[in-house]
Amino acid sequence: MTAVMTPPATDGFPMFSEDLVERLVQQRRAAASIEAECTALVAEMIRRDIHDDLGYRSMTSLLMDRLGVSAGVARAMISVATAVADMPPTLAALTSGDLDLARVRLLVAAREINSTLFADHEQTLVDTISGLGMRDAGRALDYWSQQAALDVVEHDAQTVRERRRLHVSVLSGMVHIDGRLDPVAGQVVITALNSLTDSANLDSDDGRTASQRRADALTDLCRDHLDHNDLPAQRKERPHVMVHLSLEALEGRAGNPCELDDTGVITPQTARQLACDAKITRVITRGESQVLDVGRATRVISTGLRSALVTRDGGCIIDGCGAPRRWCDAHHVVHWADGGPTSLDNLVLLCGRHHTLVHDGRVRLPRRE
Ligand SMILES: [Zn+2]
Ligand SMILES: [Zn+2]
Repeated sequence: MTAVMTPPATDGFPMFSEDLVERLVQQRRAAASIEAECTALVAEMIRRDIHDDLGYRSMTSLLMDRLGVSAGVARAMISVATAVADMPPTLAALTSGDLDLARVRLLVAAREINSTLFADHEQTLVDTISGLGMRDAGRALDYWSQQAALDVVEHDAQTVRERRRLHVSVLSGMVHIDGRLDPVAGQVVITALNSLTDSANLDSDDGRTASQRRADALTDLCRDHLDHNDLPAQRKERPHVMVHLSLEALEGRAGNPCELDDTGVITPQTARQLACDAKITRVITRGESQVLDVGRATRVISTGLRSALVTRDGGCIIDGCGAPRRWCDAHHVVHWADGGPTSLDNLVLLCGRHHTLVHDGRVRLPRRE
């Protein structure tokens, strides 16, 4: 009888290669499921704070002492256990053996980048990487993390924008402006203000501080907007300030009605300046109540007259100023309230700042040839 050759039996291992591999796969799944249970146990220990009861300083020292692991291993166990407690699909896949601990760690790391987005995508990510090799699983999560990080950056930018605000309030006769802008809007404002406060553009007599120049620049920008914005009608000049003043105040006498709509009482001198160029809308009264003049029915500088003035003067006529004509007022050399005519001979262009200084008597008009 010929003995049938059989492969030598190896202590309890399967005979065929495929079976051997299959056994390994099964045992790995069993190990993963045991790891999953370990993770769940650690999570429960954390939840109950049992290290306190057992007299340990921390959960890390408990694990190091009882399991004989290093501090690094103990901390890794704790961090995974803490994270998966809030990751139900991941915990389920770990418990069922569909995910091993190595892939779970990848998921925990990805979640740290953007936990909100991760919660939305978690089931898909779990399904995707449970079918992938470790390297491909890592790459898939790397790509997801890149996108998630971008979302975080955009979300942060959105949060910053939400905090923008601007308060404008009238307090003790001054208008207080206070606010904050997101970086992009803030850059627009800074660039616009800088363009008007560049010290290279200032004349040598300009004694304003930097913050005074910024305040003037903001005012100039707003005046420019009001004077040249085409909305809502195609008018060359739009009313931008409403002033209520009495003829008495206009004649320079204090103590008579003289107010702006939102900011209240102004000096007669300021009122004269405002009324000098008819770009404002004014309500002029005699005393408190008798309305003499509403709006700009009289003494308006016509478009034709203004064009002639702009052509003649070009811009602010004060030496070394150079303010462009779009920021200039038409100043009556002899105020119309004092009988000065609204004619080219009696008008000159002045920027807002020099207009104020001339009315205050701090700057003299250049002599005409
Ligand atoms: Zn004037
Ligand atoms: Zn000027």
